[in-house]
Amino acid sequence: MPAFDFDLFVIGGGSGGVRAARFAGQRGVRVALAEDRQLGGTCVNVGCIPKKLYSYAAEYAEGFADAAGYGWRMPARPTLDWEVLKTNRAQSIGHLNGIYGRLLSGANVQQIQGRARLVDANTVEVTHADGHASRHTAAVILIATGGRPWVPELPGRELAVVSDDVFDLPVFPRRLVVVGGGYIGCEFASIFHGMGAEVTLLYRGEQILRGFDDEVRDFVAEEMRKAGVDVRVQAQVTRIEAAGNARRVHLADGTTLEADVVLYATGRRANTEGLGLEAVGVRTDARGAIEIGAHFATSAPGIYALGDVVGGLELTPVALAEGMALVDHLFGPLPGHARRTMNYDDIPTAVFTHPPIGTVGLTESAAREKCGAIRVYRSDFRPLQHSLSGRSQRSLVKLVVDDATDRVVGAHMVGADAGEIIQGFAVAIKAGATKAQFDATIGIHPTSAEEFVTLREVTRT
Ligand code: NDP
Repeated sequence: MPAFDFDLFVIGGGSGGVRAARFAGQRGVRVALAEDRQLGGTCVNVGCIPKKLYSYAAEYAEGFADAAGYGWRMPARPTLDWEVLKTNRAQSIGHLNGIYGRLLSGANVQQIQGRARLVDANTVEVTHADGHASRHTAAVILIATGGRPWVPELPGRELAVVSDDVFDLPVFPRRLVVVGGGYIGCEFASIFHGMGAEVTLLYRGEQILRGFDDEVRDFVAEEMRKAGVDVRVQAQVTRIEAAGNARRVHLADGTTLEADVVLYATGRRANTEGLGLEAVGVRTDARGAIEIGAHFATSAPGIYALGDVVGGLELTPVALAEGMALVDHLFGPLPGHARRTMNYDDIPTAVFTHPPIGTVGLTESAAREKCGAIRVYRSDFRPLQHSLSGRSQRSLVKLVVDDATDRVVGAHMVGADAGEIIQGFAVAIKAGATKAQFDATIGIHPTSAEEFVTLREVTRT
């Protein structure tokens, strides 16, 4: 008789939890996963996937406008049917929820529907929808409960919506105010503008997208403004009030703004409430994220945590990689496979603004600090497509090179398909490619990506 019901009990069925459970199941260990909502977590249900679908919806609007320069005549101005978009999105996401469930079943993971709480280092209690609770024991417990949107304290905060709500707004907002200049704020500002809303983006600091390359930040802010998003920096919201069915946003400079919807995208916090962490000795940091050491171990023996709940890089592919690395650490790799470990260097990322950003490696300022002497190569151009569309949108490509070793330490792009393009270059950068090797690569003509292998002019040292 085994001492525990399971070898691994995973709390949370999002990207990290499902991947860890599935990988462990494939190794023949006994795994359970508890989730009280739909499988797939933030990414599948209220994040990456529905966001990208809505981003495509917004792109069509640009396509319709651009087509005129190519000779297309539209009988009438196309309009968006918000109800159709919401219904089709919900259907597509429902399909994904089902796939996640089947993947878990296929790996013999026992799925337990309900809200989990730690009782002790080897026991989890799950409260089910009908109110009854069940207890399960496990040798190892993994907390992968993710995060949720966070809104600062301010009068009228209850009148704002967050990214979880935005996909199913009952009425499409004619006027939208977005607060926050990070990934989510910038993406939704672009998306809702593209879908036909009048959008104002309010950011408290000097330039949106802190942490990205400064030139990229300036460039994308300018492109968003050119497209028609009212990007306002150094704008501090003091309170929100109801104005009939609308919302009135008060700013520190005494001005006000009216909108149908106010979206707060001011960061996320770890989902740790009600998990019983304190009772079992799992420590959290000042922002509520679970503290981890080597191999995702929390301060309580036998309890691990990964993904957004540990507050590192809140990105789906990071959580997936962490899940796989943990399973290899705990149960060993599959026969014939190398042991996976986690390496946080050169993680590529994209921001699905319009135009989008793709980036990997160091920003210019970080490279200067780390490497000392650097070379910077850039090109800022009008994509061929827009020579006929008439759109004034421009693209930026930029390489940052360590002067001493000639290694390309950063690649940045703002422009159509930036995420797709940077994903490929991320492999080269991860492999340590030099600028000479970029130069020796033949371009694909005519593309925007070829700019990366034809950059010759050093713009700064
Ligand atoms: P971010 O941390 O990216 O941005 C939060 C924004 O809100 C920043 O502009 C920040 O300003 C501002 N802010 C923070 N606190 C306040 C406050 N009290 N008052 C006013 N403004 C404030 O968080 P997001 O919510 O945009 O996204 C969370 C994470 O989710 C991202 O960091 C990313 O890891 C992930 N994500 C990834 C996506 C992708 O891969 N494409 C898409 C969406 C999300 P300041 O810069 O001054 O601190």
